[in-house]
Amino acid sequence: MRQEQRLIWLRVEAPAKPVVGAHCNGCGVCCAAEPCPVARVFLWQRRGACRALVWVEANLHYRCGMLMQPANYLPYLPYLPDSLHALIGRLIGRWIAVGTACDSDAEAIHTIPD
Ligand code: SF4
Ligand code: SF4
Repeated sequence: MRQEQRLIWLRVEAPAKPVVGAHCNGCGVCCAAEPCPVARVFLWQRRGACRALVWVEANLHYRCGMLMQPANYLPYLPYLPDSLHALIGRLIGRWIAVGTACDSDAEAIHTIPD
Protein backbone atom coordinates (compact mmCIF):
# COMPACT_ATOMS: atom_id res chain seq x y z
CA MET A 1 0.00 0.00 0.00
CA ARG A 2 1.29 3.46 -0.90
CA GLN A 3 1.94 5.73 2.06
CA GLU A 4 0.30 9.12 2.19
CA GLN A 5 2.64 11.97 1.28
CA ARG A 6 2.52 15.26 3.12
CA LEU A 7 4.47 18.47 2.75
CA ILE A 8 5.81 19.72 6.08
CA TRP A 9 7.98 22.71 6.91
CA LEU A 10 10.87 22.45 9.32
CA ARG A 11 13.99 24.45 10.00
CA VAL A 12 16.90 23.46 7.79
CA GLU A 13 19.10 23.30 10.91
CA ALA A 14 16.85 20.65 12.50
CA PRO A 15 18.41 17.21 12.93
CA ALA A 16 17.50 14.50 10.44
CA LYS A 17 14.77 12.12 11.52
CA PRO A 18 16.23 9.01 13.14
CA VAL A 19 14.92 5.50 12.52
CA VAL A 20 12.02 4.17 14.59
CA GLY A 21 13.29 3.03 17.97
CA ALA A 22 16.28 5.36 18.05
CA HIS A 23 16.48 8.08 20.69
CA CYS A 24 14.24 11.05 19.92
CA ASN A 25 16.47 13.85 18.66
CA GLY A 26 13.83 16.56 18.36
CA CYS A 27 13.69 16.52 14.57
CA GLY A 28 10.05 17.66 14.72
CA VAL A 29 8.85 15.48 11.84
CA CYS A 30 6.08 13.71 13.77
CA CYS A 31 4.57 16.88 15.23
CA ALA A 32 4.84 18.77 11.94
CA ALA A 33 3.04 15.94 10.16
CA GLU A 34 0.05 15.57 12.47
CA PRO A 35 -1.12 16.44 15.97
CA CYS A 36 -0.57 13.79 18.66
CA PRO A 37 -3.29 12.74 21.16
CA VAL A 38 -2.27 15.55 23.52
CA ALA A 39 -2.78 18.14 20.80
CA ARG A 40 -6.09 16.58 19.81
CA VAL A 41 -7.45 16.51 23.35
CA PHE A 42 -6.03 19.71 24.86
CA LEU A 43 -5.54 21.93 21.80
CA TRP A 44 -8.47 20.61 19.78
CA GLN A 45 -6.22 20.35 16.80
CA ARG A 46 -7.13 17.62 14.34
CA ARG A 47 -4.75 18.11 11.43
CA GLY A 48 -1.71 20.00 10.26
CA ALA A 49 1.48 20.91 12.06
CA CYS A 50 0.95 21.09 15.80
CA ARG A 51 0.84 24.67 17.03
CA ALA A 52 2.69 23.66 20.18
CA LEU A 53 5.80 22.60 18.28
CA VAL A 54 8.61 24.89 19.40
CA TRP A 55 11.99 25.46 17.79
CA VAL A 56 14.75 25.74 20.39
CA GLU A 57 17.42 27.84 18.75
CA ALA A 58 20.02 27.24 21.47
CA ASN A 59 19.92 23.48 20.93
CA LEU A 60 18.95 23.41 17.25
CA HIS A 61 16.07 21.02 17.81
CA TYR A 62 12.31 21.01 18.29
CA ARG A 63 10.55 20.46 21.56
CA CYS A 64 6.96 20.15 22.70
CA GLY A 65 5.61 23.43 23.99
CA MET A 66 2.95 21.54 25.93
CA LEU A 67 5.75 20.04 27.99
CA MET A 68 7.89 23.15 28.20
CA GLN A 69 5.24 25.77 28.94
CA PRO A 70 1.74 24.30 28.96
CA ALA A 71 0.22 27.51 30.34
CA ASN A 72 1.08 29.21 27.03
CA TYR A 73 -1.39 26.90 25.33
CA LEU A 74 -3.87 26.27 28.13
CA PRO A 75 -4.81 29.71 29.47
CA TYR A 76 -7.07 28.18 32.13
CA LEU A 77 -4.23 26.12 33.60
CA PRO A 78 -3.08 28.62 36.26
CA TYR A 79 -6.63 28.76 37.62
CA LEU A 80 -6.88 25.02 38.21
CA PRO A 81 -6.03 23.50 41.59
CA ASP A 82 -2.49 22.19 42.01
CA SER A 83 -3.72 18.59 42.02
CA LEU A 84 -5.29 18.96 38.56
CA HIS A 85 -2.24 20.86 37.35
CA ALA A 86 -0.01 17.96 38.32
CA LEU A 87 -2.42 15.42 36.82
CA ILE A 88 -2.51 17.21 33.47
CA GLY A 89 1.29 17.43 33.50
CA ARG A 90 1.56 13.69 34.12
CA LEU A 91 -0.99 12.92 31.39
CA ILE A 92 0.83 15.06 28.87
CA GLY A 93 4.18 13.49 29.76
CA ARG A 94 2.78 9.98 29.49
CA TRP A 95 0.93 10.51 26.21
CA ILE A 96 3.90 12.18 24.61
CA ALA A 97 6.14 9.46 26.04
CA VAL A 98 8.77 12.04 26.80
CA GLY A 99 12.37 10.88 26.86
CA THR A 100 11.65 7.69 24.96
CA ALA A 101 12.48 6.40 21.54
CA CYS A 102 11.19 7.71 18.24
CA ASP A 103 7.88 6.01 17.45
CA SER A 104 7.17 7.74 14.16
CA ASP A 105 7.45 5.60 11.04
CA ALA A 106 7.24 8.66 8.80
CA GLU A 107 9.90 8.85 6.12
CA ALA A 108 11.29 12.35 5.79
CA ILE A 109 12.51 13.44 2.35
CA HIS A 110 14.38 16.72 2.55
CA THR A 111 13.99 19.44 -0.03
CA ILE A 112 15.13 23.02 0.28
CA PRO A 113 13.04 25.63 -1.60
CA ASP A 114 14.90 27.82 -4.12
S1 SF4 B 1 9.59 11.20 18.02
FE1 SF4 B 1 10.83 10.83 16.19
S2 SF4 B 1 9.92 12.07 14.57
FE2 SF4 B 1 9.16 12.86 16.55
S3 SF4 B 1 10.58 14.53 17.12
FE3 SF4 B 1 11.33 12.62 18.09
S4 SF4 B 1 12.82 11.81 16.64
FE4 SF4 B 1 11.57 13.30 15.50
S1 SF4 C 1 1.44 18.44 21.67
FE1 SF4 C 1 3.65 18.34 21.68
S2 SF4 C 1 4.16 16.21 21.20
FE2 SF4 C 1 2.01 16.55 20.62
S3 SF4 C 1 2.09 17.10 18.44
FE3 SF4 C 1 2.13 19.01 19.64
S4 SF4 C 1 4.30 19.50 19.87
FE4 SF4 C 1 4.15 17.34 19.27
